[in-house]
Amino acid sequence: MQTAIATVSLSGGLAEKLEAIASAGFTGVEIFESDLLSFNGTPKDVARIVASLGLRIVTFQPFRDFEGMPEPQRSRTFARAERKFDLMGELGCDLLMICSNVAPDSLGGVDRAAADFQELGERAQRRGIRVGFEALAWGRHISDYRDAWEVVRRADHPAIGLTLDSFHILARKTDLKAIHSIPGNRIVLVQLADAPWLDMDVMSWSRHFRCFPGQGDFPLVDFMDEVLAAGYEGPLSLEIFNDQFRAGSPRGVAIDGQRSLVHLMDQSHRQSGTIAETTPQMPPRTQCLGVEFLEFAADDRSAAELARLFMGLGFRKVGDHKSKAVTRWSQGSINLVLNSDKEGFAHSHYLTHGPSVCAICLRVDSATATLNRAEKLCDTPFRQAVGPGELEIPTVRGLGGSLLYFVDPTSELGRLWDIDFTTPVVPAGNADAGLTTLDHISQSMHYEEMLSWLLFYSSLLDVTRTPQLDVVDPGGIVRSQVIQTADGALRIALNASQSQQTLSSHFLSHYFGSGVQHIALACGDIVSTVKQLRANGVEMLSIPENYYDDLEARTELSAERLDILRRNDILYDCDQAGEYLQAYTRTFEDLFFFEIVERRGYKGLGAINAPIRLAAQARQLSRATFL
Ligand code: MG
Ligand code: MG
Repeated sequence: MQTAIATVSLSGGLAEKLEAIASAGFTGVEIFESDLLSFNGTPKDVARIVASLGLRIVTFQPFRDFEGMPEPQRSRTFARAERKFDLMGELGCDLLMICSNVAPDSLGGVDRAAADFQELGERAQRRGIRVGFEALAWGRHISDYRDAWEVVRRADHPAIGLTLDSFHILARKTDLKAIHSIPGNRIVLVQLADAPWLDMDVMSWSRHFRCFPGQGDFPLVDFMDEVLAAGYEGPLSLEIFNDQFRAGSPRGVAIDGQRSLVHLMDQSHRQSGTIAETTPQMPPRTQCLGVEFLEFAADDRSAAELARLFMGLGFRKVGDHKSKAVTRWSQGSINLVLNSDKEGFAHSHYLTHGPSVCAICLRVDSATATLNRAEKLCDTPFRQAVGPGELEIPTVRGLGGSLLYFVDPTSELGRLWDIDFTTPVVPAGNADAGLTTLDHISQSMHYEEMLSWLLFYSSLLDVTRTPQLDVVDPGGIVRSQVIQTADGALRIALNASQSQQTLSSHFLSHYFGSGVQHIALACGDIVSTVKQLRANGVEMLSIPENYYDDLEARTELSAERLDILRRNDILYDCDQAGEYLQAYTRTFEDLFFFEIVERRGYKGLGAINAPIRLAAQARQLSRATFL
């Protein structure tokens, strides 16, 4: 299927937008009049650029307030349309998009509108132009696609067709069933946009909060099912008005758009059980079985500090890489890899970010299929030199220039530790502290990046998204959303803040970019683990007394249990499924920290306690800053 995107979806000047659209693999573009007006050149120049990039202009828009005008406005409206037809001739575009009239002086009546379109159809046809009619959700007389179709049907002219825009239809929760009874060849354009469910006026919602399919809450797959059932074969075009996108890089946003369409078509074909011949075969979303390891980048000094912290947490050094300055630290099923090699990716990551998590390795059902799907989704594969006999691990670029590796149990990659590492006879380190599994990872990012990484993870991996949550930080609001597998084998919390004052933002500026800010490790008995960590010299985050007074007031916890929590700086929450206990290490060089959790059936990540933790960390940070 042909894919297109509207110029209004991207930031930048028109030439820059077109370049970004072409390089993201779109074949078509919707030219917005405002982009043309601000372009320093003629419509013919635009046509030349479009052609040289191998693009096609699928439509020119918008043309407003056309149908149902009384005279003398009606004649002026037709004259205005003729001027647009002239312009379109120069642009080399054959489809004008008209959205339903919002003018207070416009008149209703399906037949009146149909007659206007019939006449416009005659004029358009003489110039080889077609016209698509779209029902705006806030149109004065026509706000429903079924009414717009009735106008088009009664106009009964080959140059007049229907435009379907998923936002206008789904925002009003209009029944989708009527779509498949519209003849596919009478639908001239399908525009796709998703959005989060928001309780606000539909025009502002549309103009600021549209997003790419898969980034919001709308049932786009159901919408596509109806469109395909109608027999529509024209372009699928993204028309996204979004403030974050207009603040992002045009190239990055265009690639996200292409990724969203590839993912949507894949979901749609899987739901309907049809794989179109034109769609390249794509493996399904990857089953993630867990996190095989986290890789930390460090120099010699910080590697020694990190090794001390790992030992304090009860990890033991159980492997040395055969050819690099890389060590493996294990406890329970958790593996941490410490990379202080002077060459390669980890070293450059260290130079940019300081001591940091430079890669996450996921254990998946098939690493090869995962990489294949990632490539089809326009993700960025990554390769680096490996030593003789060492494994080449399938890899893509992740958040903030970090890497995402894939290993699987069925190939050689399942023997990674035996093939690339040697095992020392006596592992170095303290006694086990009772940590068993990696519970979750949190990544901080710029606000503008959040939708992008949500789509990245949820298009590649078989995960679900929790609803967005706003967490109060002493310096502002942090928006948080979690992606997770059904069994909890993978949980990643994505956090973003618009305020410069939050800890999440402090992390971004201190770290020079987005990345892993915290790593939660699970244990079976948090009190004994925390005692062990303290005995090992690990500094834990101190929680204020007030927290425990409040906990006493709002829970049924016994005085004895409360006292244990208080003495060990452990936070508590419960839901219908069970309890959750949390404690935190102090932040490592102001960059990242570990959380220790005991999860007893509880489903969430302890969001209710996040403000307490953030305030405690802010106090720690300000002491560090002001002393
Ligand atoms: Mg539209
Ligand atoms: Mg305390």
